[in-house]
Amino acid sequence: MKVFPDKAAIVIVASGRGTRAGGVLPKQYRNIAGKPLLSYPLEMAVRHNELGRIVLVVHADDEVLWRPVVAGIERDNRIQIVAGGKERQASVLNGLETLSAAGHPESAIVLVHDAARPFASAKLITQAIAAADEYGAAVPALSVTDTIKRVSAEGMILETLPRHELHSIQTPQAFVFGQILAAHRLARQNMQIDFTDDASLIEWMGGKVHVFAGETAAFKVTQEADFAAAERFLVGATKFSTRVATGYDVHAFGSGDHVWLGGVRIAHERGLVGHSDADPVLHALTDAVLGTIGSGDIGSHFPPSNPEWRGAASHIFLRHAVTLLSDMGGRLIHLDATIICEEPKIGPHREAMRQVIAAICNLPIDRISVKATTSERLGFTGRREGIAAIGTATIERPDTNNKEAV
Ligand code: MG
Repeated sequence: MKVFPDKAAIVIVASGRGTRAGGVLPKQYRNIAGKPLLSYPLEMAVRHNELGRIVLVVHADDEVLWRPVVAGIERDNRIQIVAGGKERQASVLNGLETLSAAGHPESAIVLVHDAARPFASAKLITQAIAAADEYGAAVPALSVTDTIKRVSAEGMILETLPRHELHSIQTPQAFVFGQILAAHRLARQNMQIDFTDDASLIEWMGGKVHVFAGETAAFKVTQEADFAAAERFLVGATKFSTRVATGYDVHAFGSGDHVWLGGVRIAHERGLVGHSDADPVLHALTDAVLGTIGSGDIGSHFPPSNPEWRGAASHIFLRHAVTLLSDMGGRLIHLDATIICEEPKIGPHREAMRQVIAAICNLPIDRISVKATTSERLGFTGRREGIAAIGTATIERPDTNNKEAV
C-alpha cells in the first residue's frame, strides 16, 4: 500500500573513485568514527520521513564494499541500488532513470545528494524539499568568506571576483523530477557531460534555481584533512538516548455512518464528533510522538480554532510530529496504540490500521502495534458514548547535552 505516492525521492551518488582523498579505498567507504562514510548519508535518508524512494548509486566494482553498508536496511523497500556511469553526471542519470522506471511521478520532488557530504542534516533535506516545491529547483549554499580570484595557468591573477555575489554550493539539490530528468537526458544526447552539479543542468536549460541557506555541517569530505575534520565533527555529537511518551484522546459518538480509527475508515451506524476526522488513534499517537520531543500537543500545533484543519485527515498530524522528530535527528523505534471501546469491533481492521500507520511513519509494520479492549461496560466508553485511545511512542534522539544532531 502506498499512502503517499507523491513523497520525495533521493539519489545518493556514491560511485566516485575518490582519488583526491588518497588511500586505497574509495573515500565513501573509508571509516569515520568506526563506520564507512557512506553509512551516514544513507542512514539519514532512511530515517527521513519525507523520503519515499532512495536510490543509491554505487560503482559496479564496489559490491564487496557496499554490501556491508546496506546490511540490515536493504529490506527497506524504499531502497534501490544501481551501478553508476563513467562520470558523476552519468551516475546521476542512472539514478534518475531508475526512479523513472519505478514510476516516480514527474511532478514529484527528487533530491540529488553527494555521499561525500555525510553530515547534511535531516532538516536540510526537509528544507530542500520545501524549496523545490516552491521554486522548482533549489540548492543549499554558504556565502564565501575568502576572497576568490581567477588565476591563470601561469599563476598570475586574472581577476578578483565580487565576493558578495559568490556562494559555495552544497547538496542535497532538489528538483521537480520531470525537469531534472529531461535536463539530464538532453545533456546526454548533446554530449554535454562535464557539469559538476545538477543545478548547472537546469541553468543550461535556461531554468531558474533558488538558493537557500546551507549548513557548515554539510561540508564535502574531499581531501585527507577532511577525514580528520569529520572525526572531530562526530566527537560527542551523536549520543542517542531512548525516550518514551504517551498520548491520550477521546472522541464522542454522534451522527454519521463511519468512524476513522488508525487511519482506516470503518463503516458504523454512528460517527465520531471532532474538528478534524476525529481519529482518536492517530491523535493519541501524534501526542505520544510530540511528547518524546517535548513539543506540546496536537492542539498547540493544529489549533481547533484554525478552519484549515476542519475535517482534516489525521495522518497530517502524525506525519508532522514524526517530521519534527526526524528534523532533530531522531527516529521512531515503535508505536503502540490501545483503543478502548465497546463498538465497532477492532479485530477485523487491526492489520489495516498497522499498515496505514506504518506507511504514515515510514516504519516496518513489525514496529507498529494496535490493540483493543472494552471497559467492561463501565464509564463513558462502556456506555458507548465515545471511543478513547492511548498511544505510546518509543524513539531515539540525540542527547540534548551534546551539540546539534548530525
Ligand atoms: Mg482528538
